[in-house]
Amino acid sequence: MTRKSGRNARSARAAKPSYDTPFQKNEELTVDLVGLTHDGDGVGRANGFTLFVQGGLPGEQARVRVMKLKKQYGYARLQELVKASPDRINPPCDIYKECGGCQLQHFDYEAQLAWKRQHVVDNLTRIGKLNVAGERDAQDGVVVHPTIGMDDPWRYRNKAAVPVGAAGENGELVAGFYARGTHRIIDMDDCLIQHEHNDEVVRVVKKVARELRIQPYDESTGKGVLRHIMARTGVVTGEIMVVLVTNGKRLPRQPEWIEHLRASLPGLKSIVQNVNEEHTNAIFGDETRVLWGSEFIYDELDGIRFAISARSFYQINPAQTVALYRKAVEYAALSGKERVIDAYCGIGTISLFLARQAGHVYGVEIVPEAIEDAKRNAALNGIDNASFEAGPAEVVMPRWRKEGVEADVVVVDPPRKGCDPALLETILALQPKRVVYVSCNPSTLARDLRILEDGGYKTVEVTPVDMFPWTVHVESVALLVRNGTVY
Ligand code: SAH
Repeated sequence: MTRKSGRNARSARAAKPSYDTPFQKNEELTVDLVGLTHDGDGVGRANGFTLFVQGGLPGEQARVRVMKLKKQYGYARLQELVKASPDRINPPCDIYKECGGCQLQHFDYEAQLAWKRQHVVDNLTRIGKLNVAGERDAQDGVVVHPTIGMDDPWRYRNKAAVPVGAAGENGELVAGFYARGTHRIIDMDDCLIQHEHNDEVVRVVKKVARELRIQPYDESTGKGVLRHIMARTGVVTGEIMVVLVTNGKRLPRQPEWIEHLRASLPGLKSIVQNVNEEHTNAIFGDETRVLWGSEFIYDELDGIRFAISARSFYQINPAQTVALYRKAVEYAALSGKERVIDAYCGIGTISLFLARQAGHVYGVEIVPEAIEDAKRNAALNGIDNASFEAGPAEVVMPRWRKEGVEADVVVVDPPRKGCDPALLETILALQPKRVVYVSCNPSTLARDLRILEDGGYKTVEVTPVDMFPWTVHVESVALLVRNGTVY
C-alpha cells in the first residue's frame, strides 16, 4: 500500500462511524449476563462484545435494546428476562428504580454478601497481584473471609441528607432525592434503609416549612431559602439533630421553627443552621450555628460515647461499625503495651477502641474540627492514653518519625482514593509489626497492599464488612504483618 492510498483509506474511514461494532444503536438482541460491575450493572456478553445492562444479574439471560455504543463496549436497556437468576428478588422499595440511592435491591441479600466478597477477591487478584487462598485458614495466600452481614439489613442509616426544591405548577416544597441521573427532586417520605427517626425528621421539617411558607431553594436561579435537610440520630441514645441548610444567613420565622420542631420531635437535642450561598453541589457551606439546644448529639459504640457535631464524619451504620472496629482491634492484636498510630482518625472512633487495649494511640486527621472532637471524645470517656494531631497524615507521620515516635501497629482508614504514597513510605520506614488497613474502596486497597507487600509486608487476611446493604459499596479490613514476624 502506498502512502497516498493509506491516507485515503484513513480519511474514508473517518467519514464513516469511526469504529465497527457488532451491533447498531436501538438493535434488540439476547445476551448472557456473566457478571456485575462495581456500579451494580449486569455485564452482558454477545459476539465477543460487552454490553452493560442496568438491573441485570449474573447467570441471567436477557432481551436487551442497545442504547449507546463505544469502541469496545456499550450500554443496553433490559427489555425482558429470558432466564431469571434464582438470586433475583422483588425490590421492597416502591421508588427503587427512580431513586438510584440503592443499586442492589433486586439481588438476594446472601448473594449480595457473596458478591461483595468476590469483588474484594477480584481486586486483590487483578490490581494487587495477590494470591487469594480461600475463605478460611490457609497455609499459602491471603484468606478473604465471608462478608460480615446484618441480621436485619434495613433501616440502618443514622444520617439523612435530602435536597429541597419546588415541584409541580404551584411550586410546592418537596424534599427527597434526585431522580436517577438528574437534578429533578422527587418527594419522598419513607426510605427503607433510613432510621425511622430520620424519616420522621424529614417529614416534620417539610410540614413545618410548608406551614411557614418557606421558599424552597431553586438551583437554576439561586433563589429561595431552604436547600437541604439533614437529620442525624444517635441510634443507641435516641438523640436527634436537625440541620437546616439555608441559602443566606436569615431563616425566616425562626422562633416558630424551633417551637414546631420541638413539639413534633421528642428525641430532639439540637437544631443547627448551616449557611450555603454558593452555587454548588456541595451540601454544606462554611458557616454553622446552633439555633436551639446543643452543638452535639451523643451516640455510643460498644460502650464508648461520642459527641457528634453537624459537620463531623461519623460512620452511618453503627451496628456494622462496631463489627468493623472490633475486627480492626482484633487484627491489631494488642497486649496493653503497644504504641499504635491511627491515621485518618476522624473524630477518634477507631483510636478510642484501640486505646482500651494499647499502651498509647496517636491519631492524625486532616480536619481540625474532627481533631477537636477526638480530644473531647477521649476526655468524655476518661481515656488518657490517646493523643491527636491535625494535619495531613502524609506530612505529620514522617515528622513524628523524625521526632522519634515509634509504632508497633499502624492502622489506616483513608478516604476512597486510598493512602498517599508518602504515608505508605513512612509506614515502611517505621517498620511496625502489623498494619491494619480499613478501606471503603477495594481497588485502592489492592493498589496500596501491593506497595506494602513490595516493601516487606505480607497480607494475611481480609474481612469484608457490609456497611451499606443494598448498595454497591464494599468496606473491608485487612491485616498485614512484617515479613519474618511471628503472629
Ligand atoms: N477512622 C474514622 C474516619 C475515616 S474517614 C472513622 O472510622 O470514623 C477518612 C478520614 O480521613 C476523614 O475523616 C477525612 O477527613 C480524613 N482525611 C482525608 N485525607 C486525609 C489526609 N491526607 N490526612 C489525614 N486525614 C485525612
